[in-house]
Amino acid sequence: MRYYPVLVIGGGLAGLSAAIEASSQVEVALLSQVHPLRSHSQAAQGGINAALANVPAGRSDDWEKHAFDTVKGSDYLADQDAVEIMAQEAPEAVYRLERWGAAFSRSAAGTLDQRPFGGAGFPRTCYAADRTGHVLMHTLYEQALRHRITVRSDWMVVSILVEEGRCQGVVALDITTGKLDAFLAEAVILATGGAGRLYQRTTNALICTGQPTALAYRAGVPLKDMEFIQFHPTSLYGSNILISEGARGEGGYLLNRLGERFMERYAREAMELAPRDIVARSIQTEIDEGRGFEGEYVHLDLRHLGRERILERLPGIYDIASHFGGVDAAVAPIPVQPAQHYTMGGIDTNADGEAALMGLLAAGECACVSVHGANRLGGNSLLETVVFGHRAGRRAATLAQGRGVGARAHIREADALVADGEARLKAISGEGPKQFPQIREEMARAMTEQVGIFRTRRGLLEAQAKLQELRERFRASSLRHIGRRFNVELVRALELDGMLDLAEVVAAGALARAESRGGHYRLDHRERDDQRWLRHTLASYTPRGPRLRHSEVRLTRWQPEARVY
Ligand SMILES: Cc1cc2nc3c(=O)[nH]c(=O)nc-3n(C[C@H](O)[C@H](O)[C@H](O)COP(=O)(O)OP(=O)(O)OC[C@H]3O[C@@H](n4cnc5c(N)ncnc54)[C@H](O)[C@@H]3O)c2cc1C
Repeated sequence: MRYYPVLVIGGGLAGLSAAIEASSQVEVALLSQVHPLRSHSQAAQGGINAALANVPAGRSDDWEKHAFDTVKGSDYLADQDAVEIMAQEAPEAVYRLERWGAAFSRSAAGTLDQRPFGGAGFPRTCYAADRTGHVLMHTLYEQALRHRITVRSDWMVVSILVEEGRCQGVVALDITTGKLDAFLAEAVILATGGAGRLYQRTTNALICTGQPTALAYRAGVPLKDMEFIQFHPTSLYGSNILISEGARGEGGYLLNRLGERFMERYAREAMELAPRDIVARSIQTEIDEGRGFEGEYVHLDLRHLGRERILERLPGIYDIASHFGGVDAAVAPIPVQPAQHYTMGGIDTNADGEAALMGLLAAGECACVSVHGANRLGGNSLLETVVFGHRAGRRAATLAQGRGVGARAHIREADALVADGEARLKAISGEGPKQFPQIREEMARAMTEQVGIFRTRRGLLEAQAKLQELRERFRASSLRHIGRRFNVELVRALELDGMLDLAEVVAAGALARAESRGGHYRLDHRERDDQRWLRHTLASYTPRGPRLRHSEVRLTRWQPEARVY
């Protein structure tokens, strides 16, 4: 058993931001399933939004315009008070990163440069070429070392300890030895990222399973708006590696098999820089109606930018297209198709990261504050991690300082939870059919086919039936490999347990929501219905499946309007 006043789970940008801020007041430890620098944040390409008004075309930008674009982009489902906080705190958050040494790309005038991004009225996205996540992660990791935060990699959280109506810590698996141990804490911050791996085609890393989100759900914490999944318009055909929106921000065109810039049909003004939900549906429609290539993809054309500009602004994209697609982007278009990209919903929190369970906080992609509503704008997610990670860290430190003996009074219950965990690991090492990998594959296929870009009542019912069948097969299955050291199959099986829960929540929310809004598009209910559905979905765990409730969307100054680009 170990004890820390504040325990952060996850070493991406949200977890590091939270840990750094909390460590100015109390001792902090950070557990991460992979080394922090292998978190998915590392892969972020295009940039981070803040209304700095640095470049000539953006001189009249300000935080209110940023907030409005975000609210409109969210299809009016975001909580506007949370969006205002994010947009207001954005400049300070970006300058803090810069002061800590983040090497942002600069304009000729020497200020932080800003590029245009989808759904934004002005060039507002600060960036470090197309490797923004890499640069920010190294900056924050350095700060974490400087603040002497205890970082433990290869630890996977497998349950949350709830006693006296409060989160008192977690139980985690040491992947290197296969042993379980308890970590008691006065405040636990989940910063464990999105759930992209629920889908077959995704830009997300293998670590993005959302399994800890499911642990919170099982511990009685409601999940919010999980039916809203973002499909990115442009992933590389074949591997689904992300081709950043920055490529269109720099002037790239989308072309179909007939050579048409087809976005003209769908978003006459914004064209390729319409928000992601709209561009992804447009591409999929072109493909479905036979104007794609090989029935699978369209072209992203950068050739007119010229080799020099491509290599300066989009060096990573150039390399990805070349190494993984065999395409020299300066002489040939890049084949692209939509793929799952972002989890808009998550653990329901307030603007200080607090969830409904006292002592449990969440920040970053696993949380739903909610600032993205039904559709996230590019560049707002990195911003969310640093703004709300910081706020959650500060709040957690305050919560921890106010307690006396606190979590340390629960050693016995922690030991019991470790023993439960051991029993569970034994149980899945039994004689059942060895089906975990197959179940995972079938789940991801059902999610892609029936809970994807276009949804229908019929498809969603089929997906639900399939998920139920998979849950039953999961219960009967066991591991092929029973050794405990670095047992990757065991890790995958524990992830799958949580992923099946989340898949159920996404499908149930999508079935209930009989309208189309942002990333959720129902072919049998194509219109947005503010009368009935300008509401958040809250899903709570029951043994018979998710129970759905609804809560009001907080509007401050913007009434819903038609969303035209
Ligand atoms: C390819 C790609 C490019 C992107 N580009 C941009 C961009 O340009 N701009 C933008 O705004 N957004 C972008 N995004 C989105 C953005 O990068 C993410 O939403 C954000 O980085 C998530 O950060 P996070 O800290 O919440 O989680 P992550 O960075 O995903 O970190 C999650 C952490 O949780 C840990 N973890 C998970 N499960 C467990 C467990 N059970 N126990 C212990 N630890 C666990 C992992 O080890 C990891 O450290 C991009 C996303 C992708 C996939």
